[in-house]
Parts: sequence; C-alpha cells; structure tokens
Amino acid sequence: MSEAVKTRGKLIQGESGPWEVVIGLEVHAQVLSKAKLFSGASTEFGGAPNSHVSLVDAGMPGMLPVINDFCVEQAVRTGLGLQAQINKVSVFDRKNYFYADLPQGYQISQYKQPIVGEGEVHVDLPAGESVTVRIERLHLEQDAGKSLHDQDPHFTFVDLNRSGVALMEIVSKPDMRSADEAAAYLKKLREILRYLGTCDGNMDEGSMRADVNVSVCRVGGYEKFIETGSFEYLGTRCEIKNVNSMRFVAQAIEYESRRQVEVLESGRAIDQETRLFDNKSGVTRPMRSKEEAHDYRYFPDPDLLPLELDDAFIERIRLSLPELPDAKKARFVSQYGLSPYDATVLTAERETAEFYESVAKDRDAKAAANWVTGDFFASLNRDNKAIAESPVSAAALGELIDLIADGTISGKIAKDVFVIMYETSGMPRAIVEERGLRQVTDTGAIAKAIDDVIDSNPQKVEELLKKPKLIGWFVGEVMKRTQGKANPQAVNELLRAKLGDRIGS
Ligand code: ADP
Ligand code: MG
Repeated sequence: MSEAVKTRGKLIQGESGPWEVVIGLEVHAQVLSKAKLFSGASTEFGGAPNSHVSLVDAGMPGMLPVINDFCVEQAVRTGLGLQAQINKVSVFDRKNYFYADLPQGYQISQYKQPIVGEGEVHVDLPAGESVTVRIERLHLEQDAGKSLHDQDPHFTFVDLNRSGVALMEIVSKPDMRSADEAAAYLKKLREILRYLGTCDGNMDEGSMRADVNVSVCRVGGYEKFIETGSFEYLGTRCEIKNVNSMRFVAQAIEYESRRQVEVLESGRAIDQETRLFDNKSGVTRPMRSKEEAHDYRYFPDPDLLPLELDDAFIERIRLSLPELPDAKKARFVSQYGLSPYDATVLTAERETAEFYESVAKDRDAKAAANWVTGDFFASLNRDNKAIAESPVSAAALGELIDLIADGTISGKIAKDVFVIMYETSGMPRAIVEERGLRQVTDTGAIAKAIDDVIDSNPQKVEELLKKPKLIGWFVGEVMKRTQGKANPQAVNELLRAKLGDRIGS
C-alpha cells in the first residue's frame, strides 16, 4: 500500500483528538437484461403494477427457477471490467427472511461462493490525484418486490414487477476515507458499468443504489488495518441502507461520521446497526440492530446446480470488452496531448469520448478538446441535453474548427457562429456565408476603416502620444466598423504602421 493511502482522508476533530473515517460500499447494480434472473418476465421500468410477473417471480409452489445465461455473462463482463478474479464455480444460496414483498420467503443470492472475487477500481479525485479502491466480491442475486404504503389509508399494496430482477451486488473493501472519495468511487464504478453496458447506472430509477458502511477510528487505525488485514483496528461500523444518489451518499457519510465521533467522545460505544438516511432532514436514524449471516439460514438452493463456467466462455467475453475509461484516458493523454483533467472529463462517458474523437480526427486535438469541454458542454448542460440530443454534430463542430484554422473566421466570431449552429442545427460554413461573417483579410478594406477612425477622432490621435495604451481603443473602433470581421492581427499591424510615430512610449 502506498504512503498516500495510509495518510490520506479527512480527519474529524473531537475534543479528545482527531478521528479517521473509514467507508466501505455495497452497491446494488441492476443487470442490463431484458429478462429476469430466473424467469422470462420483462424487466422494463415503469410498467403497471404486477404486469411483469411470472409464476416464478410470484413464488408459486412448484415453480422452478431457470438461470438466464445473459445475466451470467453480464456479471462476468463486469468482473473483468473490475479487473477481478472470475470464479469458475459459484453457488446460488437461499437467504431466508420474511417480508411482504418477498413471496418466496427467501432471496436467491450467492454467499460463500460468489461468481466474482477480488478486483479493483481506480478512482479519480477532484483534486487530480487518484486512489485505488479494492473490490471484495461481486455476486448475483434477485431483487425483491416493492411495498407501496401510500396508495390507501388502511392497506399496504405490493408490486412484484421488480421481484426476480437480476442484481449484481458489488462489495468494496473499506478503502474510502471521506465522503468525496465515496462519491468519486460511485461515479467511477458507474462509468465502468455504463462502458461495459452491464447496468444503466440510473440512480433515479433505482438501477443503482448503495449500502454505505461507515466507521471512525483513532488516527493510525486504518494504517494498522492495511498492514495486518485485521478489522480490530477499525471502529464498529454502521450500515446505512439503500442510499439512491451520490449527493445523499456524501451527506449520509458526513452526518454519520460526525454522529459516531460524538457518541465516542461522550464515552459511549457504537452499536453495530443498520440505519436509514432521511434525505429531507439530512440525518441517519436507527432501523434495526445488525443482522448476522446465521440469521438468514443460508443454504445452497436445491433447485439450482452450482454454476460452472468454462475458459472459452470467459475468454470470449474478455475479447469483447470495450476500451475502458482508464485505458481511454491514458490514450487521450498520450495520443492527443491532453491534460489528465481534460482526458478524465472527455472519457467519463463512452458517447462523449466518441464525439470528441470524431471532432479531433485530423485536427488540432487541443482546440477540439477546448471546444467540446467549453461552449459545447456548457450549452448541453444549460439545456440538460445528452450528446445524442445535441443540435451540433461532431462533423459541424469539426468544420467550425477548420474555419478558424484556415482563417475564414476569427475565434471570436466562431463563438457567435456556434450559438447559431446550436440554435438552428446548421453547418458553420453555410452560416458564415449566409450571414457574411467571413473574416476581412483584405488589407484595403481594413486600411479604409482605419483611415475613417483616424480622420474622425483627431483628439484621440493626439492623446495617443501620452497614452500608448489607447491603441487598444483604436483596434476596438476598427473592429466595430467591420462588424468584428476584420482579422485582428491585420488590424493591429496596419494601425501600428499608420500611427507608429504617434504612439508614445
Ligand atoms: P454485510 O452483508 O454483513 O453488510 P459484507 O461483508 O457483505 O457484510 O459487507 C460489509 C461492507 O462493510 C463491505 O463493503 C466492507 O468494506 C464494509 N466494512 C466492513 N467493516 C467496516 C468498517 N469497520 N468500517 C467501514 N466499513 C466496513
Ligand atoms: Mg451489508
């Protein structure tokens, strides 16, 4: 483990001294698949209640689960994307508990033998450094249904559309040291899942949600934990269930870590418990004391054989993996000479990276990066539009950059042209021609404008002797007379030639 890992993170000052924060996340990511994990029912979001429910999902007696190959493939693909160990034999277990939205009376999950073992994620922090968060495991499991408490004053309703939908539970090691790191980890994990096409990462629709484990310990505790691997050096954790946005994850951690420090500073101990985050008041509240694995009476599901994967299956998936964010980012830095920051921004989504690469092709890559991350992103963000909905295509933006490069328009006029392109979906060359925005490089026309400005402002010409900076005012006037179309460099040169002896020093 590097020095940076040992010492990083944010400390909380207590009366008796500083405390370190330690965070581990269990992320539930819904597998992108048309059908459920053990039935053929649809996984589509937003159907009428109980319209996507097969007899298997409803827990009818005698129904048998049949594994969906595609979900297995998606889990393996995700494991490979997390640079993780793929377990060629894994086992589905029954996790027994009673709840109204769990018709079988148990959830089919994986416990001792998950499909994916240890891996890692490289997390980019806002300040520019990056840290590694280790992955403990990834297992496949079924989602439960949903209890609806707000439909009737007397009854709770149950919607089983989600019942049986495939989830990947991705469990990290307790390697995050602040709310910012946890949010950045989630962001990176979501990026990777989206690149892989194994989860849409849509937190609003519940396709990705996190159980957030938080503890605090005395400074040095985490380092000891890393050295020895022993959890005894860490504090007792609380688990905050089902947090469904990055902002709430960060808020829950801020609140919970402070609460734990207060409890410890007052001489009490932390109870290991499951808590809920109330996003309206920003606090966490106890939900239940922590359950133990033995409470669930896990046992291998007798309806399902152990899952065995062969090398050819794994290799076929490995070969089909796309270039992932880390590799793409490194390539953008070396191939295009971009800063790590720009490269990170441009590779955050696959669509963004593709868009950038088609703009940059055979052009000044840095100029392309500036346009994409600048005016282009600003306009899309303002209107809350995705790249796919952009009125400005990559070809159009590329053409605009060409027009600047060959001197047809100035960088300043280009900004105006961009606004018109965005409003009209038009191509820049046509816009420039139609609106007569071509840069004037014809020195005759510029000279004429300069003479006009000099002739009508004798006073200013006098002042120029004492105030050489006034030359800027002359440039501005000439630009006005040419509606901003004069080539600024030509204006400057001609002005200096004409007024040279008048400019003071
Ligand atoms: P469970 O299902 O009982 O919550 P898991 O082993 O599946 O147990 O998940 C435990 C999660 O809690 C992991 O993400 C792990 O990194 C994290 N964790 C374990 N101990 C601590 C601790 N002391 N502080 C913070 N997080 C912890
Ligand atoms: Mg847990």
